[in-house]
Amino acid sequence: MSFYADLHLHSRYARATSRNANLVELAWWARRKGITVLGTGDFTHPAWFEELTESLLPAEPGLFRLREELDRAVVERLPRSCHGPLRFLLAVEVSTAFHRDGRARRMHHLLYVPALRAAATLNDRLGRSGNLTEDGRPTLAMDASDLLEATLDSGDGAYLVPAHVWTPWVGVLSATTGFDAIEDCYGDLARHIFAVETGLSADPPMCRQVSALDRFRIVSYSDAHAPSRLGREATELATELDYFAIRHALESGEGFQGTVELFPEAGRYHLSGHRRCGVRLEPAEARRARQRCPVCGKRLTMGVLQRVEDLADRPAGARPAGAAGCRNLLALDDLVAGVTGLGPTSKTVRRTVDALIEVLGPELPILERLPLDAVEGAGFPEVAEAIGKVRRGQVVRDPGFDGQYGSVRPAAEVVSAR
Ligand SMILES: [Zn+2]
Ligand SMILES: [Zn+2]
Repeated sequence: MSFYADLHLHSRYARATSRNANLVELAWWARRKGITVLGTGDFTHPAWFEELTESLLPAEPGLFRLREELDRAVVERLPRSCHGPLRFLLAVEVSTAFHRDGRARRMHHLLYVPALRAAATLNDRLGRSGNLTEDGRPTLAMDASDLLEATLDSGDGAYLVPAHVWTPWVGVLSATTGFDAIEDCYGDLARHIFAVETGLSADPPMCRQVSALDRFRIVSYSDAHAPSRLGREATELATELDYFAIRHALESGEGFQGTVELFPEAGRYHLSGHRRCGVRLEPAEARRARQRCPVCGKRLTMGVLQRVEDLADRPAGARPAGAAGCRNLLALDDLVAGVTGLGPTSKTVRRTVDALIEVLGPELPILERLPLDAVEGAGFPEVAEAIGKVRRGQVVRDPGFDGQYGSVRPAAEVVSAR
């Protein structure tokens, strides 16, 4: 049996997060999306930590479930097709700001611990380097290698995953404030890092162009700032429901089933460019322009694709032996919106998505593996056709750049060439 895990998301205590990002709403949306193990997010925040302590009960080793009465209320609001188990895993994203080699460094890291006690220990330590009450994703005046050490010291099984590694300004491999290699950033203890997160603008095939990343599992999570965005990217695992088994899969690759994720062009930093001037450039074009905006002359924000190319030692499309798979998806509301010609938040779209999920079960399996016949047979032939196109990669891509989301949609009828 395999399941989806989404281990990067935020509570309402993080900046720019939906006010309904509480445990009940998170649990409701996670089940609807088909996620079985969900990160808590934000456990460094004192108020959120208190909510976690009050609302979660220990389940399998290192995992938690919602208290009975809370969980019953969640399940009652869901169709029977979405009543699967849901577990929480203690997770937080933190930002570090420090200087190294005469340069200002800033980057985000995901931290995981198997017990509330370990989380409390880590919170004590991190609270000495930054204000934990200001933001669910705190900024710490702390060298990344010290953060890694503090994480590993907080208890057995704790681990760190560099977050959205390529993203400008916030990724450990970003051109602006990052490094050229994971080891350069984290130092001697880097051997304890075994997974890296792609971020929305990159996907595992892009990462595989860089052989220095071969030893890492490439994971994807939603980084959701609203419960409805959970699972827009997720990692599939075939393990016991157990924190340590999940960790082992990430460390060893055994039971690691790859990722489901958006097309990287849909992310906000895929190509290079300058948003204010409406300038979007492919890597080669940006290099020809010497990273200067051809309109205003300011420095371009280097997109993820260009940064990957700069560090790559393999051609695009190379897939080293043993690399796990990756399936690119579009969200169900976007697909239904495309089919109906209505906005993704319109009532009709919402009702159609509800109907699909009621009959066919949670969203991720519908998108990625349910036989198209089943979708068609449930009365949604046009949705089935759109899902089929996405699965075959028949999509039109309008890549994002410099903070502007891209868009991807199923291609119009493909006329087969003779
Ligand atoms: Zn982040
Ligand atoms: Zn410009």
